Amino acid sequence: MAYSKNTDSGLVVPKKWYEAIPRPSWSRFEKIETSQLWFSVYETTPETYAINEDGQFEEVISYLVLGEDTAALIDSGIGIGDIKRVVKELTDLPVIVVNTHAHLDHTGGNSTFEEIALYDHPFSRERAKGKPREGIDVGNYLSEGMYWKPLPRGIDPATWHTEPFKVTKWMREGDKIDLGGKELEVIHIPGHTPDSVCLLERRERLLFIGDIFYPAPIYIYSKESNMDEFITSFRKVVKPDYDYAMPGHNETKVEKKVVEDVLHAIEAIKAGKAGSYKTGVANGIKVRRYDYPRFALIVRDD
Ligand SMILES: [Zn+2]
Repeated sequence: MAYSKNTDSGLVVPKKWYEAIPRPSWSRFEKIETSQLWFSVYETTPETYAINEDGQFEEVISYLVLGEDTAALIDSGIGIGDIKRVVKELTDLPVIVVNTHAHLDHTGGNSTFEEIALYDHPFSRERAKGKPREGIDVGNYLSEGMYWKPLPRGIDPATWHTEPFKVTKWMREGDKIDLGGKELEVIHIPGHTPDSVCLLERRERLLFIGDIFYPAPIYIYSKESNMDEFITSFRKVVKPDYDYAMPGHNETKVEKKVVEDVLHAIEAIKAGKAGSYKTGVANGIKVRRYDYPRFALIVRDD
C-alpha cells in the first residue's frame, strides 16, 4: 500500500490526481496495446513489460519478466482488472507469480494464477488467506475519486473484494527462481512490510524493488514499517550490481543512484542531521515529511 502522490502535505488524496497521468517518464517506453484498458502496458526492456494500473490512485506496477522457459509475473495488481488476460496476450510461457510482499494492492490478481511464490513469514501467511472487505482495505481502492478509468465489466465497487490464494512456493532469502537463461534472486528486505523482498535479475541488470522504494513520498511510519529495519534493508538493496530499480508504484526504471540517495537521506534523518521538514498527521500518526528532488520520506514524528 502506498498513498504516494506528490502533494503539499503528501498525506491527502489530491483532487484531480489523475490529470498527472500518464506521467511523462512513461513516454520513454513503447506502449503495448492489450484488450484490457484498465492497465497501460509498456515494454521497459527487451524481456520485461511493466503492467501499470494507472486507472487507480495507487498506480500499481506489476512486471512480466520473460525467461526462456518460464515467465514471472512480479506482483499481480489490485485485482480490479483482468491481469491474467494481459499476461496471456503478452506471452505463451507458463507463468509463476512472484510477489514482492503481501500487501493487497500487489496480490489482488493472485487467485487467478496456479503458481504463486511469496516470502515465508507469518505476515504473508496471514495475508494469503485473503482479506475480507473491511476497514481501510479493499473497499477504499474503489471509493469515490480513487479511480478514473471505466471499471472493467463485472466490477461493482459496492461488493468487489479480493479472493484468498494458494502459495505454491514459500520463498526464503537467497532462493533463485529459474526462468530459463535467467534467475530471480530473492533478497529479503523487511521494513515496508516484514515479508518484503527484492528480486535481482542479473541478465537485464534490474532490481525489482517492491515498495521499499518508489520515486514519490515513501512512507516509513505505518505499524508495519520500521525505520531501523528500513535502513538495514536499504543497505542490502544498494549492494548488488544492477543498473535500474523497478518499483511497484508510479514510475519505473529508476537509476540505482536515486536508490543510493534514499539510503543516504534516511541515514541522515536517523542521525538527526537531515535538513528541514514539514509536520502533519497521517492515519492518526504524527509524521514528518522530508523532501528531496526525486522522492520524499515520511517518518514518525516522535
Ligand atoms: Zn506495499
